[in-house]
Amino acid sequence: MSTIIDLENTYTSGVYSKRPVAIVRGSAALLWDDEGREYIDCVAGHGVASIGHGRSEVAAALAAQAQRIITCPEIVYNDVRARLLERLAQLTPEGLSRIFLCNSGTEAVEGAFKFARLATGRTGIVAALRSFHGRSLGALSATWEPHYREPFAPLLPGVTHVRYNNLDAAREAITEQTAAVIIELVQGEGGVHVATEEYVAGLAALCRERGALLIVDEVQTGFGRTGKLFACQHYNLQPDILCLAKALGGGVPMGAICLGPRVTESGRITRGAHGSTFGGNPLACAAALATLDILEHEALPARSAELGAYALARLRELNSPLIREVRGLGLMIGIELGRRVQPYLEKLCERGVLALPAGPNVLRLLPPLVISREQLDRVIEIIAELLVPAAANGTGSGNS
Ligand code: PMP
Repeated sequence: MSTIIDLENTYTSGVYSKRPVAIVRGSAALLWDDEGREYIDCVAGHGVASIGHGRSEVAAALAAQAQRIITCPEIVYNDVRARLLERLAQLTPEGLSRIFLCNSGTEAVEGAFKFARLATGRTGIVAALRSFHGRSLGALSATWEPHYREPFAPLLPGVTHVRYNNLDAAREAITEQTAAVIIELVQGEGGVHVATEEYVAGLAALCRERGALLIVDEVQTGFGRTGKLFACQHYNLQPDILCLAKALGGGVPMGAICLGPRVTESGRITRGAHGSTFGGNPLACAAALATLDILEHEALPARSAELGAYALARLRELNSPLIREVRGLGLMIGIELGRRVQPYLEKLCERGVLALPAGPNVLRLLPPLVISREQLDRVIEIIAELLVPAAANGTGSGNS
């Protein structure tokens, strides 16, 4: 695999790159490498493969659509795209009636900032410490991690980062210059931190009071990951702009920017204000429709809620001097360790579990929502073998 940046010595390095693993095939929550070794997938392509790998429904929808039409300019009506837009408008929180389709989470955030500027006539953005919103220059400006940002400075002016779950910090930062506040309801890359209800309600009220828009970045939390179709539903929240991507396309690149009344009724979002050649292409739309069918028919958000609560409870029972905290919502789980997580990811990989870091010392589990309880039990057992000395002795398999 070739990369343009050598990530060898960074903690983000490599779910895949640092380890000698070449994944060639997947089915549901399992992956196989080129030597036929099996892994339980707790990465899901960074939260993309919520419906699991190797879904024949998505493959069939792609094949059928490829025979009909693959590309159609966004200014022209297309039946599959129209169906997806209608479906998204029905599924997302009320009022998000105007939707722009794009190709990734970063693009969704980038577009959200542009729409927020247009709608408010302001340019400031308030984001949170530890936030991750993408890597293009606008989105990167809202991403917090200095290590991602510093090589590319100067970034967008007028972006401030404030403490997460802290309304006083937000109150100080949101001014008449603030176009939007952007927030992840569960911070993913930044360590799996869950927003409190008071914080979210307070932030929404502050935004309304000060004429700023609330952008909710559900790129990672969307489509059942946290145990509801959207994390907003845990908070009874109606965002002004909702950013979606990852799981939406079932593995095919697809993102969406959903605009609420405070944006659409500004009268400033004119046709052609934003655009994308590939955004909303019929092929990706067909994959997204098949994905939404699966999420619904298999009730995957409810499954994520149930399995997530089960896994969190079991992980919280582990009596390990290495574990500082276990947190999460649905099947978005973080285990904060008292030390660097990278060696543990490598040991998990050796034992047939692929997992993710979230910051330097958080072990993150983002399995496909179709993972079986037995597979989840196996993952928890292996984590226990690595982190709980007694568990390793008990099973006789611990050699770490
Ligand atoms: N926002 C959030 C919350 C994310 O987790 C990510 C990806 N990890 C992004 C934006 C960027 O998405 P993408 O990688 O599809 O550009």
